[in-house]
Parts: sequence; structure tokens; C-alpha cells
Amino acid sequence: MILINGKESALHFSDQLAINLLEFKERTGVIPHLAAILVGQSGPSETYVAAKMEACHKIGFRSSLVRFDENVLQEDLIARIKLMNADQDLHGFIVQLPLPAHIYVDKVIESIDPEKDVDGFHPINLGKMAKGQKAFASATPWGIIKLLQHYNIETEGKHVVVLGRSQIVGLPMSLLLSRNSNPGNATVTICHSKTNNLKAITLQADILVAALGIPEFVKADMVKEGVVVIDVGITRVEDPTKKSGFRLVGDVDYTSVSPKCAAITPVPGGVGPMTIIALMENTLLAAQNQWQARTAN
Ligand code: NAP
Repeated sequence: MILINGKESALHFSDQLAINLLEFKERTGVIPHLAAILVGQSGPSETYVAAKMEACHKIGFRSSLVRFDENVLQEDLIARIKLMNADQDLHGFIVQLPLPAHIYVDKVIESIDPEKDVDGFHPINLGKMAKGQKAFASATPWGIIKLLQHYNIETEGKHVVVLGRSQIVGLPMSLLLSRNSNPGNATVTICHSKTNNLKAITLQADILVAALGIPEFVKADMVKEGVVVIDVGITRVEDPTKKSGFRLVGDVDYTSVSPKCAAITPVPGGVGPMTIIALMENTLLAAQNQWQARTAN
């Protein structure tokens, strides 16, 4: 069984990214700048944003954090996003999800300039990606594509089963893997909470991508021998033995499933670090695109 080490892969890709960054900086004098908008004070969101800001620091990007109280009005949030869209000193930004229930996420995402939407959530980026056009691919699925590539995991002709159809993970993942490209060319089945006979479908998977947000949902009797498992889920589960009081658990019951796998990602240390790398790559691309557009005029 191969343990797909996302941390190690992320280090490999960040070295490459640092080289590309240096070339861009020397040629243009521009340092890519990524900002994150954080609403409220949720523990997991704080952790994810801190990791993204830390990655910027390590690779040599500029970063900034824009905080809002959890009661922020949707119109105030969107007004700030419009200012960030117009800020020529800022190349890309993300709105950390989830947002409080009174905010309509789609409206917020749609207010982001697609040229700065480095998370790849805007419908224009999602649509372009679906058509195989140049676009910011959604960071988590794109990180998974890079991980599969890094480990030489063949996707062509394989049956990939994606558990979850969210706009930020399951849906773009299924689109990327079914595209006529490499990695891609897979036969993809996308499952959700209304799927009947789920186990009969997961048992057919050559590659199983679990993105439900239900800890240890996938059990050993749901997968076949030799499957490749990509576990996207991250849930905090109470654990009094830990100093923090919790541990991170994936959507796959790692202990029982891993012996059947040809390869599997752990949680933590699998998909998470690659999401950050994909975000950084998108930010460099945004800075390059914006530089090119400015100098062409
Ligand atoms: P989400 O928006 O809550 O979507 C969950 C999906 O799972 C939905 O499509 C839902 O179906 C489906 N689902 C729920 N119960 C199911 C069941 N019993 N059988 C089959 N499908 C079922 O979640 P998300 O944002 O995609 O995130 C999923 C997980 O990935 C979470 O744990 C999240 O924390 C994690 N995540 C990790 C990263 C990373 O970098 N590692 C990044 C993003 C997310 P319906 O559509 O029918 O409701």
C-alpha cells in the first residue's frame, strides 16, 4: 500500500513554485499578493486561513487578512470585495467558507472578480474549467489532480467514484477527472445524499474520492481490493487525550480501509497541503495574468 504523502508532495511543488516566483519577481519586480477574508471566529477556518498565510510567507508572497465580525451585513462584505477587486496591489483573494447562515454564499462568490478568484469558485471559472479553457481551477480538486500526477496514478479509463457534489470539491473534481486530458479521461460517477445503493457503486471504484464531511463514513466493505482512495474530508472530533481536545478525522475509516488499498491519502497530511499549493499556484498565475494585461496596454 502506498501512503500518498501530501506534505512531502507539497514541499516538492513549493520548491518549483519558489523558482517560478523568483523568475517572475526578477523580470517584473512584482511580488504576488494574496488576501483572505475571514468572517467570524470559527476554529477550523482560523486554522485553514493561518496555514494559507503561513504558506505565502514561506514561499515569498505577500499576504493580508481581512477580518469581519460574524454579524457583518452581506452588503458590507460585498462592498469590501468590490474594493479588493479594484485594488491593483492585490492579485488574488479568497473568502474562507463556510460563511454565517444569513449570508448568501453564491452572491458573495459572484461579486469576486473572476481574475482574482484564486479559489476557482466563481461560476465563470467553474464554467471555463468545465469547457477545458484556461481558468483558475478549484484549489482542492486541482491539488488532488497534482497529487495523482505526482504519484503517477493513472486515471485514463478508470472508474472514479466521487462521494459529494459540492461546488467547491465534488462537482469540480468530477469535471476535472472526466475531461479529455491527462490526468482525466476517467469514467466518473458522482454520488450524493440521495444516491441509492451507494455501496454497490463504491465497490466498482478504481479510484474513490470521498468528500462528504462525515467522519469515517467509508468502511472496508465499501471498497474493492486495490482501490486508490483520496480522502478529502476533515472533521474535528472530540478527543480528550489530545492537548487541543480534538483530532482531525477524514471521511474514510483509515484503519479498516487502508489494508485493501493500492494507495491512500491520510488525514491530516494528504489533500490539505496540496489545496494550499494549488491556491499559491493560482495566485502566481493571477499576478502573471494581471501583469501581462497591464503591460500590454
Ligand atoms: P458539503 O458542501 O457539505 O458537501 C457534502 C456532499 O456530500 C454533498 O454533496 C452531500 O450530498 C454529500 N453527502 C452527504 N451525505 C451523504 C451520504 N450519506 N452519501 C453520499 N453523499 C452524501 O462539503 P464540502 O465543502 O464538499 O466538504 C466535504 C469535506 O471535505 C468536509 O469534511 C470538508 O471539511 C472537507 N474539505 C477539505 C478540504 C481540504 O483541503 N482537505 C477542502 C475543502 C473541503 P447533497 O448534495 O445531496 O447534500
